[in-house]
Parts: sequence; structure tokens; C-alpha cells
Amino acid sequence: MPDVLILGGTGEARELAAVLLDCGVHVVSSLAGRVRDPRLPVGGVRIGGFGGSEGLAHYLRENSVRVVVDATHPFAARITSNAVSACAAAGIACLRLARAPWTAGPSDQWTHVPDVDAAAAVVAERGRRVFLTTGRQDAAAFAGIADVWFLIRVVDVPDTALPPHHELLRSRGPYTLECERELLERNSIDLLVTKNSGGDLTSAKLTAAAERGIEVVVVDRPREPAGIMSVSTVDDAATRVRALLRVS
Ligand code: NAP
Repeated sequence: MPDVLILGGTGEARELAAVLLDCGVHVVSSLAGRVRDPRLPVGGVRIGGFGGSEGLAHYLRENSVRVVVDATHPFAARITSNAVSACAAAGIACLRLARAPWTAGPSDQWTHVPDVDAAAAVVAERGRRVFLTTGRQDAAAFAGIADVWFLIRVVDVPDTALPPHHELLRSRGPYTLECERELLERNSIDLLVTKNSGGDLTSAKLTAAAERGIEVVVVDRPREPAGIMSVSTVDDAATRVRALLRVS
């Protein structure tokens, strides 16, 4: 029976599992099962959806979970909403761990958009050679753009429609500044599209784009559920969890 269920799929979720296990907290991490060969955290792991917020609430009761930490990606809005409802239904605490968003510096040329469809509209208007880094699930939003060339970076090959002119680059971060500079130059990129994921592992592309005066279309984060208890670092999450479990 886990004390803590970590909703994962991020580096922070893996780090938190390790920190809590070190403190003697019994942890199970949950992955959606989207990535073919996921990086697994230490401790217990379960893979696959729960069946909506009701399914998650059922899991929490069946397994006597005491605290849920939703450490999913900042753009995984559905599971975050489900976690809040399920924890309320099960009468347990729900803590959100989401890394801080990136913020633009003086040399950044960012265009903020509310979602990937809006990003696609900007690309259709002024992209020629575009570096698309929004992930496998969102590449389909750009499929109808025929007169732009895309470099699409993904972990796994998308199983959806893709734009007619593209090259797929399969890789998984972290990425160095040197590697990102070389990629932008070699492919004559003139527009970068990214979600505002935050964190250090994939931020080098922003620095490389700023150095070359390349516009960045930044998809802003979805709004988090109102009143959610939220932290942005693994250390703060571990401190809160220990307090909730009364573990020293
Ligand atoms: P989502 O749209 O918020 O969730 C869709 C459904 O996937 C949920 O309703 C749930 O199914 C299942 N699910 C999501 N995360 C889960 C988890 N950790 N454990 C078990 N089931 C989960 O999520 P998404 O955007 O597809 O992201 C899926 C996973 O990929 C997340 O774990 C996230 O951390 C990771 N990820 C997402 C992104 C991104 O850009 N969205 C980027 C990197 C990593 P049920 O309703 O059946 O429970």
C-alpha cells in the first residue's frame, strides 16, 4: 500500500520518488504509458490511465493512498484536473509539483499564443523553416501547413498526420547549447515553436534562438485548477509531503 502516489512522466517526478524513498516513504509512481521506452523512477511503478477521475478516486481508496503528488508535465491538464477531483472525492491531499515557466529575457523575441492551434496560425503566416518542439501529440496541429518546412523533434514517431514537408528528429533531452546552435544553423531555422515547459533540460534552444535573432512562438501553459496546493521544486514537494504524512 503506497503512502504517496506520484503522477509522473517528468524528471521532477523521478527525482521526487527517489527523495521520498530515501526518507522511508512508500511511493508508487504512475505513468500514462505514452512513451515506448520510458525512463522509470525508483520504487513502485504502475502504467496506464485510471479511467478518469472516478477511476483514480477508486484506485486511491482501494490502495489507501494518503497523498497524491501530481508531478505531471505542466501541459498535462486533464490528469491534473482529474487528480484534484479524485483527491477531493477520496478525502486526501493533492499537491501539484510543476516547474517554474520560462520567462523572456531582453534579447528574446517571443510571441505568446494560448494553444498549439494558435501556434500553427502564426507558423502558417510567417514561418519558412520551422523547428517544432511541441511533442508528438501536438504535431498534427501543423499537418495542414503545406508551404513551410519543419524539423520536428520527438521522442517517439507520431502516429498522426504530419505536414507534407518535414524531417523527423528522434531524440530525448537534455540538450546542450552547442547542439542547439548547430541544429538551428545547419537547418537554416527561422522560427522555433515550443510549449512553455520550463526547466533546464530543454531550455538551451531558447538561448540559441535568441543568439540568432530567431522568433520563438511560445505556447502558454493551460490554467491550473483554482485553489490547487502547488510547489515548483522537488525539495519543496518533499517537505510538504513529509509534513502531510508527519514523517520527520
Ligand atoms: P493529459 O492530457 O492530462 O491526460 C490524458 C489522460 O492520460 C488522463 O486522463 C489519464 O487517463 C492519462 N494520464 C495522464 N498522465 C497520467 C499518469 N501520470 N498516470 C496515469 N495516467 C495518466 O496528459 P498528456 O498531456 O497526454 O500527458 C501524458 C503523460 O505524458 C503525463 O504523464 C505527462 O507528465 C507526460 N508528458 C506530457 C507532456 C505534454 O506536453 N503534455 C510532455 C512531457 C511529458 P485516465 O483518464 O484514463 O486516467
